[in-house]
Amino acid sequence: MIIVLKPGLAAAQIDEVAAEVAKLGYEPRVIRGEVQSVIAAIGDERTHQNLQSLATLAEVEQVIPVQKRYKLASREARGDTVVKARGVEIGAGKAFCVMAGPCSVESREQLFAAAKAVKAQGAAFLRGGAFKPRTSPYEFQGLGEAGLQLLAAARDEFDLGVVTEVLAEKDVDLVARYADILQIGTRNAQNFGLITAAAKTGLPILLKRGMAMKVEEWLLAAEYVLAAGNPNVILCERGIRTFETYTRNTLDLGAVAAVKRESHLPVVVDPSQGCGRADMVVELCKAAAALNADGLLIEVHPNPAEAWSDAAQQVDPARFAALMAALPPFLRAVGRPA
Ligand code: PEP
Ligand code: MN
Repeated sequence: MIIVLKPGLAAAQIDEVAAEVAKLGYEPRVIRGEVQSVIAAIGDERTHQNLQSLATLAEVEQVIPVQKRYKLASREARGDTVVKARGVEIGAGKAFCVMAGPCSVESREQLFAAAKAVKAQGAAFLRGGAFKPRTSPYEFQGLGEAGLQLLAAARDEFDLGVVTEVLAEKDVDLVARYADILQIGTRNAQNFGLITAAAKTGLPILLKRGMAMKVEEWLLAAEYVLAAGNPNVILCERGIRTFETYTRNTLDLGAVAAVKRESHLPVVVDPSQGCGRADMVVELCKAAAALNADGLLIEVHPNPAEAWSDAAQQVDPARFAALMAALPPFLRAVGRPA
């Protein structure tokens, strides 16, 4: 960290601050300016935030971190991560991974129709919520374990991996018995107790970006999974809250480019929550492919008009087929197998 001192300090005052830096376990290097001096504190600051305490000294103007706060999630830590789920490899330029299915699991008929449609178009995973994080307590909350059982049955019937959300720490073991990838939703993206418990199952974690989370906070949430000993994290951009109301959220494709630059973790895009409108999903999927994202999480419903949640944003099987057919030129442009 860099400790910026107030202007006009006497040499003895500067030495006093340097001595405090040394007391905290860092090597102080004083750079004397004509008006103002700074002290560079040499040492690994990622695990030692204690230098911030120097900001309370009368001689100190500000304490500026130099290193990034995430360590394991950082690109500096390792080469591109490939997450393997049910034999499918995700990340590091491997085949574009499409995870598709309804917002909520509603019935066997609905789920199987969605599974059949997404499998026919080449999706590798079936998505579907059995535990739903609804804004209102009066809305459909999901089928719970019965929904998980239907997902498992669809996995067997259609040979698809299962991605499903775990909402609460108490349900981690239950959901982990049925899922191939555990989804942590936007509302829980900084629920570190839940994230750590999910990480400890060893299953891959699909970590949505919190709707009000900065890129750094998102990567620090991923850091919780990695720090719990689970290297299998897939980041998922799903849109953030902005002043814009034309779309449900603002899909932040810039953040996809940013996390790909900052981190070795695979990144997928959820255009469904990202814009909340079925008529825009195809364009956003093309954009995600062109950005070299590692895959998509898309809501597909056999009859969106009758969906029990997120009806406006779910694409029907015909639109999903059109979407899948539109992707190859964009994938080729970034040199990725479809
Ligand atoms: C979902 O995928 O259906 C969902 C609830 O997502 P999010 O947590 O991004 O809102
Ligand atoms: Mn949804």
